[in-house]
This record gives sequence, structure tokens and C-alpha cells, in this order.
Amino acid sequence: MKSAVNPRITLVGAGPGDPELISVKGLKAIRRADVLLYDALVCPDLLEEAPAHAERVFVGKRAGRHAFPQEEINRLLVAYAFNHGHVVRLKGGDPYVFARGQEERDYAAAFQIPVEVIPGITSAVAVPAAAGIPVTARGVNDSFWVLTATTTGGRFIADLDLAIQSSATLVILMGRGKLAEIAGRFVRAGKGGLPVAVVQNGTLKSQRSVSGTMADIAARADAEGIGTPAVIVAGEVADLSKAGAYAAVSRLAGTKSRANGRR
Ligand code: SAH
Repeated sequence: MKSAVNPRITLVGAGPGDPELISVKGLKAIRRADVLLYDALVCPDLLEEAPAHAERVFVGKRAGRHAFPQEEINRLLVAYAFNHGHVVRLKGGDPYVFARGQEERDYAAAFQIPVEVIPGITSAVAVPAAAGIPVTARGVNDSFWVLTATTTGGRFIADLDLAIQSSATLVILMGRGKLAEIAGRFVRAGKGGLPVAVVQNGTLKSQRSVSGTMADIAARADAEGIGTPAVIVAGEVADLSKAGAYAAVSRLAGTKSRANGRR
């Protein structure tokens, strides 16, 4: 006979790739899971942290196949919680950064299932860092924007056009397939010389990156065979991974304060 189950759900940010970049709290949740629902970008090592009895359910996008529809994931979350108890929903990076975490939380809450959300280190910050690129540098930029290139209705391009006009660092997720189009926008806006880097498989042993300017990045990334998942990071900070970065910071800081002085 089945003992009474106590349904609950924990949305856990698994971090950007390296399995050691999960939080202590997230790891503890996995170790107390009855079921793990995980995405394609979650490191397989983390699945081994769950108890032996825990069911491991893949709900991501497999090569050549469609992703699980979000409604199906929502339904599975609730069904597994009612039938098995503690469901850990393991998501790449942070559960709320372009990851539909709030939809899963709200769906479960409608069934009165308690939901806890444990943040994760987002690839938007960690992947540039893994390539030596700080998303902010004193005197270089005062903000960074995180954009997804995969939206409906052209909102991405509208936001991108605004961001191009600023000194912000732009971090673009899900943009590898649109790299040429994105870079072309910068070139047409007179920013063909802006530094940019593309980093694939950041924080993993298989990490690869390419850097250049908006004018040549698409050709460079193609020539190097840079694939997905990849983060595009655009802005003067993209130059700071190179040797002599400190000198570059000082140079840029000088340029910026002069520019500010003219305002
Ligand atoms: N919630 C996630 C983002 C999900 S969107 C987070 O906070 O990181 C998925 C996109 O994230 C990918 O298309 C890619 O742009 C980026 N990404 C995630 N992991 C990555 C990695 N290890 N290397 C490069 N890009 C990564």
C-alpha cells in the first residue's frame, strides 16, 4: 500500500553548466527529491546527487525534436507532486531568467501545492565571466542589459535598437542563430567597431569563445564553428578579457570621463 504523500515542488536554478556552480541550498533540495524534472542544459552530474529512489524525468529539448510544451511540463510537475511527493524542477541558470519559472510556480500554486524557488547563477553573468569578461567595469559602463533573441512579435529588435544607442553591456541569450542579423543592426547604427564576444558552453570543459567587432563577429563565429548554447556579449567590456585588460580599463575610463565632461 502506498503511504500518504506530501506534495511539494522546488524550482532549483542549476547554474550555468559547471555542476559546482549550484547553490548549497539547491544541492540540498536535490538530495531530498522524490522526482527530478530536468532540462537539457542541466549537467548530468547533478542528477546523480538525487536519492536512488528518485525518478529522473527529462523534459528538455532533444536534438532534432521539439521541446516539451510548457503546459505538459506544468501538468507533469503537479501530477508527480501528488503521486510521489517532493518534485525538484531543475532548470539551467536561474529559474526566473528566460526560463518560465513563474509560470510553473503559479500553475502549481493553483493546486495549493507549496512551491519554493531557489535562485541559480545565471549564464547571463557567469558565461561572460568564464571567458574573462566582466559585465560591468568601473568607468566603462553603468548598466548591463540581458536580452533574449527568441521572442514573438519583434519585441527583441525594438529593445535591441534602444540598447544599441546606450553604453550598456548587452548580454544576449538564445541569439546564436541571429548573430549576423544582430551584428548587422550595430553596423548600420554606426557601431561596427564595437567589441563583441560569443561564448559557447561557458563554464564547462568544452567552453569555446570567439571575439571580434560587430563588423566581423558573424564570420569569425562561423569560421570557428561556434554553436549553441551560446551567450553573445557586446560592449567595450568584451575587450577586457585580453592581456593588458587593466590598461584598457584605464584608457576607457579616461575616454568616458571626457565624454561625460562634454554633457
Ligand atoms: N535560465 C537560464 C537561461 C535559459 S535560456 C539562465 O539563467 O542562464 C537558454 C540560453 O542561455 C541559451 O540559449 C544560451 O544563450 C544561454 N546559456 C545557458 N547556459 C549556457 C552556457 N553554459 N554557455 C553559453 N550559453 C548558455
